[in-house]
Amino acid sequence: MGLNSKCKTCAKEISKTTKWCPHCGDSQLEPYTQRVMFLLTGAAVLFLLAGLVGGFVTAIIKKF
Ligand SMILES: [Zn+2]
Repeated sequence: MGLNSKCKTCAKEISKTTKWCPHCGDSQLEPYTQRVMFLLTGAAVLFLLAGLVGGFVTAIIKKF
């Protein structure tokens, strides 16, 4: 039935392929994967912020 793994947090049966426990909502990713995902997300946010600030500054410069 696909329910062949246990949640690391609440120990309820969950799908082996799911990334999130449907019972408690906790992530089922390995700590290393979580760290990589966190770093990638942080880098993406920084990149987006830099792009937004850069675009904002460029818009102001073009006005004058
Ligand atoms: Zn859980």
